[in-house]
Amino acid sequence: MEILHVSAECYPMAKVGGLADVVGALPKYQQELGHVAKVVMPMHRTRFLYNNTWEVVHKAGFMMNDAYVEFTIIKEKTNKLGFDLYCVDINGLLDREKVYGYDDDAERFTAFQLAVTEWLNAWQHQPDVINVHDHHAGLIPFMLRHCFVYRKLANIKTVLTIHNAQYQGWMGWDKITSLPSWDTWRWGLLDWENTVNPLASAIRCADRVNTVSPGYLQELMNNANGLEQLFNYEKGKCSGIINGIDYEVWNPEKDTYILDNFSANDVAHGKALNKKKLCDDFGFDQRYPLFIFIGRLVGEKAADLLPAAIRQAFEYFGREFSFLILGSGSNALEHELASISEERFGYYHSQIEYNEKLSHQMYAGADFLLMPSRVEPCGLNQLYAMRYGTVPVVRRTGGLRDTVIDYGEDNGYGVCFNHASVEDILNAMSRSLDLYKDKETLQHIRTRMMEINNSWKTSAAAYIRLYQSI
Ligand code: ADP
Repeated sequence: MEILHVSAECYPMAKVGGLADVVGALPKYQQELGHVAKVVMPMHRTRFLYNNTWEVVHKAGFMMNDAYVEFTIIKEKTNKLGFDLYCVDINGLLDREKVYGYDDDAERFTAFQLAVTEWLNAWQHQPDVINVHDHHAGLIPFMLRHCFVYRKLANIKTVLTIHNAQYQGWMGWDKITSLPSWDTWRWGLLDWENTVNPLASAIRCADRVNTVSPGYLQELMNNANGLEQLFNYEKGKCSGIINGIDYEVWNPEKDTYILDNFSANDVAHGKALNKKKLCDDFGFDQRYPLFIFIGRLVGEKAADLLPAAIRQAFEYFGREFSFLILGSGSNALEHELASISEERFGYYHSQIEYNEKLSHQMYAGADFLLMPSRVEPCGLNQLYAMRYGTVPVVRRTGGLRDTVIDYGEDNGYGVCFNHASVEDILNAMSRSLDLYKDKETLQHIRTRMMEINNSWKTSAAAYIRLYQSI
């Protein structure tokens, strides 16, 4: 089968969150299963772009709002990622440093999708499946079916993978004049509550829809940022496939970012060395349990609860633990988290940045990873933590519910709680501190977690079965 993934992010070319990890790994594993998988994404100006060699494979243009937009498709020359990676370059629109966050994001991603569809229209053959990821590629299933110029592409099967349904790409109807002429009787396939909603459109137009965990799909039926009714209506074509992790990138036995490589057999020793290095770097005392938080500092991740939870935890538990945060997001929160560093120097630090290397060192050196998320479509952090013998302390939601079993249950290994509240976080931290004192149980749990197989192998095969079903 030939599969084309269309995405805004792909690790290591450009990463903001889990979407990049998935699109950087899933195609590689699909190739290993004997299929041809390709990725096309916008040409963001990232270090990976400059450090690699590219060839131009296609040049063309399209009309967008009365202007002629030229685009170039470039391909990474050496197949470095284990699959063909293509980037769309549109001068002034896509060649920027950040992936998202510009005022003209709606135009940027519409232009990206138009370029991809124009390029596909010029192929001599057709892929068997186009797997679009999130709303940034959500107009493609509609365009293939209903834009007259793309009629020859109308029978290509499409799958929408939803990594995050909170963001839907809403845009005013005035923006849609940029699409090539389409069957206007079908306007309802683009509309949701009087705005163009690319995610809703893809849910309606794609042949199949999958979320990145079964638990998240269940939750979307009741809570989908306005699309609950649509998910219920279309549930017949929806399913959940849990994300895997890239065992080459996330491998404590070979990881070049960490000080000491280790496996399940020598986890106690390996973690102790990595913890010492991490604690030395941040001036912590390694005898105390080390909690970490890694992620976007936004409401979805319940990062706003962290300042109060951490302050109160220091009041209740005293100097019994250390806490290290790596993340960026809301400015107010960044400042508040940074201010705790001054109060609790020596056992608390917030590192406000995006730092891939440090994230690996933290998964390897920490004892507990806290994820109090309000919304978690799958969550990869807990899977990386487990692979590095770090106990996940998670709220039971979405993919966290599907992947973490509380250590009080049979074969459990994590610490789970129900509510995104300061009180529940404190209770979970208290249970974690108890677990830390019980060295024997902690050792069993670490080994058990590291032996769980969360590789992409199983999930990549599930994607193939999904494609085959259409
Ligand atoms: P989401 O995609 O919602 O942000 P996921 O748990 O699916 O959350 O994926 C988050 C990914 O981003 C993980 O690979 C995590 O390690 C990484 N990450 C998030 N914030 C940072 C950061 N500040 N520095 C390094 N890596 C980060």
